[in-house]
Amino acid sequence: MPQAPSASEREALDGFKRRLAEVMVRSRLNLRDDLRVINVLWDRLQVERIAGARELRPFWEGASSPPGSRAVLYVNIPYCRQKCSFCKFQVRTAPTPRALARYAADVVREAEFFSPGLAGTRFDFVQAGGGTPSLLPAARMKELFGAVFARFDAGRAALRSIEFHPSSASPAKLRACRAAGFNRVSFGVQTLDRSLLSRLRRADQTEARVRRAVRWAREAGFDIVAVELIAGLWGDTPEGFLRGAVRLLRQRPSSLSVNQLNLTADYMKAEGIDTEKYAAFRAETMPALAQALRERAAGLGYRAESLSETRGIWTLVRDDLPTPARADGCEALDRVLGLGQGAWSHVPGRAWYQRTTLEFSQEKPIYRMRRQTPETAMAAYVRHALINGSFVDFRAFRDAFGEDFRRRYALELRLLELFGRVRLEDAGARFLPVELTERYFFGSIFFVRQWARLTAGRALLGPDYLRRLAEAVLPG
Ligand code: SF4
Repeated sequence: MPQAPSASEREALDGFKRRLAEVMVRSRLNLRDDLRVINVLWDRLQVERIAGARELRPFWEGASSPPGSRAVLYVNIPYCRQKCSFCKFQVRTAPTPRALARYAADVVREAEFFSPGLAGTRFDFVQAGGGTPSLLPAARMKELFGAVFARFDAGRAALRSIEFHPSSASPAKLRACRAAGFNRVSFGVQTLDRSLLSRLRRADQTEARVRRAVRWAREAGFDIVAVELIAGLWGDTPEGFLRGAVRLLRQRPSSLSVNQLNLTADYMKAEGIDTEKYAAFRAETMPALAQALRERAAGLGYRAESLSETRGIWTLVRDDLPTPARADGCEALDRVLGLGQGAWSHVPGRAWYQRTTLEFSQEKPIYRMRRQTPETAMAAYVRHALINGSFVDFRAFRDAFGEDFRRRYALELRLLELFGRVRLEDAGARFLPVELTERYFFGSIFFVRQWARLTAGRALLGPDYLRRLAEAVLPG
């Protein structure tokens, strides 16, 4: 349990609350009772539209990479056959073959557009995700990913990973991706339980299909064949989860990652639950699960690499394989070039940008850009770390931003500490998992200083909302 605040801390927290109040009370529009609007307020005020990819190049070229950061190339395929009930991503469903072909051709053109400006950049990590990249036909994959790997330089040692849905895998698709340059494939299995699968809207996924897909991937020659499960699905039991995990591990994948469910409004609606009910279920089922999983996995020749609550992801790696160098997934200080609509590009300290053309057309590429001042870059970095449950290394922070993390965010960190959302260690700050609705709030406190200076007077939140928010989340 966190310590109760001292008198001076109480004063500081009250100051924080006042600042938050001042900003929010200026708001008028009473939108939904949803913390996301706080972020929307900030994001909207930051955004500018720019016309084309050429204008983005200077941001990338002028960026100095903080130590330890990577150059990441991300290709987004935003289509899925249907939307799973737990999914937090924005996906488009049931694409026609024509839509897929147009999208792939457009991403190729975007790669052509960006690549001359990034000549000489060696990408450390390439990821194709979505959505469901495996919805693309094999010929389309060959064309698209062949073009991407031909235009961008991914070093031999780079992790080049693609996500597959077990139901849309085929030997031809896996061979096409391997030949194009991917060395890792990750299957989002989520669960093997038939009744859960149909509730999740993944009824077309059977255990036989998963087994087949893993075998095909091995036959296609991937260096790493990873599988993923979700822990904390409503209706799942620890015993049922462990049974599924053991059956998957018996297929000898290179690794098994277990992501903890992100509770979304859609999922709660689909399952007829609320946050309290889910929190009780989670408290009852999750604590013992990590330890039980570790023990069962050890008996099958897998070791736990990050079997902890901290990142919200548990990873088991086969004993005969080396420890993965880094997490697959972008980290806060990585320089990311995103290709495809919906893929964010990120140049730390400089800009976030995203292509948002309604019709994904190369003739009129429009990007939304959020420029970063040193102040917003730091806040965005911390928010990213908090939302992803990462560890902020004090020395890396100083190297990247030239400031002392603890001094800069003393008040915010204390607030998070009081709520049990951060653990301060000698080397850095370890953010602990937060539920989806809380993330927006706790993430947003890092922007309050900037909000407080806004004079736009634009209204997004009603005073009532503020009072309820403050009462619910802040002490005193
Ligand atoms: S397949 Fe993956 S990206 Fe698509 S809806 Fe399901 S979870 Fe989301």
